[in-house]
Amino acid sequence: MISRNRYLSKQKWDQLLKALPYQLPTSVIGHSVLNQPIYAHCLGKGPKKVLLWSQMHGNESTTTRALLDLFNHLHSISGAKLLEGLTLLIIPQLNPDGSSAYNRLNRNNIDLNRDALDLSQPESIALNEVFKSFSPDFCFNLHGQRSIFAAGKRGKPATLSFLSPAADDKKSLTPARVKAMQLIALINNNLQKFIPNQIGRYDDTFNSNCVGDRFTSLGVPTILYEAGHNSLDYDRNFTKKMIFNALITGLNAIENGDYLNYSTAEYNQIPENQKDYVDILIKNVDIKTDTGLFKNQELSVLYHEEKKGESVYFKPVCHRFSEHSELLAHSVFNADQILKVSMVEFAEGKTIDIF
Ligand SMILES: [Zn+2]
Repeated sequence: MISRNRYLSKQKWDQLLKALPYQLPTSVIGHSVLNQPIYAHCLGKGPKKVLLWSQMHGNESTTTRALLDLFNHLHSISGAKLLEGLTLLIIPQLNPDGSSAYNRLNRNNIDLNRDALDLSQPESIALNEVFKSFSPDFCFNLHGQRSIFAAGKRGKPATLSFLSPAADDKKSLTPARVKAMQLIALINNNLQKFIPNQIGRYDDTFNSNCVGDRFTSLGVPTILYEAGHNSLDYDRNFTKKMIFNALITGLNAIENGDYLNYSTAEYNQIPENQKDYVDILIKNVDIKTDTGLFKNQELSVLYHEEKKGESVYFKPVCHRFSEHSELLAHSVFNADQILKVSMVEFAEGKTIDIF
């Protein structure tokens, strides 16, 4: 299977911005390891300031695509009204090298979301400088997650996930953290009508080198947005719409202060994400391993993503097998519907031949 939308290189993004019928105010906030400019767009002159950044992990493009819809919305009459109350600083691709390579990491193989204290990379330094000079009231840290997450134990797929990162080891409810929780509770409440029971919450173990944890510990409410999976939408077009909704909802609530009507308890009621999904479950498979032959098994299969030209190829690989799988799947097949062979020689991570 192939997706033509998931790969969003710096070049492709630059072209998309150039094709807009209006010009975005653009500044350069730094340069990547490969000396590519990192762009930011400042919109609005309102009193409440929000800093948003996306594609700090280069292979997580869905939220960046949603930013294009956000730009268009902000150019409309209702969007312009929103900008009377807000000043937004938006960095669509914090990791342009990783975006062009379809890689989570930057060119030095560093995870920029584990570099908030070390500041060892030029991209991390650029974000940190912007954070200090812009002095935001809120931050939106925009990411994409794998298709393996359920919103709660054996729940529906987590199409969106959120986190109010901890500010310290004790996971204290600092004022910044409470605000982030309240805002997420509002977004969750408003989005349930579109994706009932498909919103999850991430584990809040503190890691001072994660950007969200770091900024929260410095007193700025930071919301982690994760674009997740829905049904067979591997292009993540539906998810992109939901992210756009969640962005507008969050920004409106910051502008009008409605999030203050929500509680941390409502945040805690959002189900925690569980790794309960695989991409494909194949029933009635005969499996051969080093230790023997196993008849009528259930084989779970994950897609591994590989960039091929301008597309992302989803390569099916063996994950696990058992008589009755505990895992849920986005697709379920009988062996004769999908396998090209009558028996699978199993090794974890091995590619399998499917129709
Ligand atoms: Zn990420």
